[in-house]
Amino acid sequence: KIAVTGATGQLGNLVVDALLARGAKAADLVAIGRSAQKLEPLAGKGLETRVADYNVEQALISALKGVDKLLLISASEVGQRVAQHENVINAAKKVDVQLIAYTSIANALTGGMKLAEEHIATERLLAGSGIDYVLLRNGWYIENYTDQLMGYLNSGMVLGAAGEGKISAAARADYADAAAAVLLSEEEQSGKIYELGSDKPFTLTQLAGAVGAAAGQDVAYQQMDPEQLEKIYADAGVPAAFAHILVDTDLRVREGALEVNSGDLAKLIGRTPASLGKVIKENLDK
Ligand code: NDP
Repeated sequence: KIAVTGATGQLGNLVVDALLARGAKAADLVAIGRSAQKLEPLAGKGLETRVADYNVEQALISALKGVDKLLLISASEVGQRVAQHENVINAAKKVDVQLIAYTSIANALTGGMKLAEEHIATERLLAGSGIDYVLLRNGWYIENYTDQLMGYLNSGMVLGAAGEGKISAAARADYADAAAAVLLSEEEQSGKIYELGSDKPFTLTQLAGAVGAAAGQDVAYQQMDPEQLEKIYADAGVPAAFAHILVDTDLRVREGALEVNSGDLAKLIGRTPASLGKVIKENLDK
């Protein structure tokens, strides 16, 4: 059996769809989430669903019984993730899971991003666990930007502190398909590290240009002072600690922290990842 944690989230749902599209049988898939209600649509697709919170090791042990391969989708509560991931890894060990695939962050060890710290700690836990594992070091989601399309269009501006740093962002669905490809691969995956991102990196100036071109209006990139940007995020309701992490990410992007040149994503999914322009257009057409 193949299990997916965070199956109720945006990436998790796309992974389930990608596994089914790649020929996995629904009966061989286990969707794990903390909300029974959010798991219902996955049960509707024929998957076995199991409720477990990342904070409760005992529940995770029950949820992972009989599972051979596990996709551990990194948790979303920044600051609590190492302990949560440790619970999953400990539970997986107790029930003899054979392989864990973990969604880490691109250039985890070299990018210097604060956001990478919990991923690095998790990679270390995996290395010390004795369980076979494979790292899916996901780059930035294009949706991190396209979710803000209306804001860009209303203000005519993309704000950032990333200078002309290149970002190899790709669509969530492509990262999901890569995860499905790894889980279903007949090749040995243990020990592999995939650096995942699109083949066409863009700067925030290019992002602004692409949004403007797609919408037929002027949108410009506005380079911000880091402190100013942090304040804008905080004023918009982003928790202070996370606003700090977001601005830190932009500063590292200047030095290439989210640029990926491995070609791993295209190789795994067997096609060119969706372009920035395509994802923008899909969002404008919604
Ligand atoms: P989502 O927020 O849509 O999904 C997160 C998933 O984790 C949900 O299924 C959520 O459950 C589950 N989860 C969170 N906390 C717990 C918990 N305590 N116990 C059990 N399950 C929990 O994020 P995405 O799917 O978009 O992204 C997946 C992960 O990728 C994120 O969690 C984050 O680590 C990382 N990420 C990467 C980004 C990138 O650009 N590369 C950007 C943003 C996040 P529930 O549905 O009940 O909330």
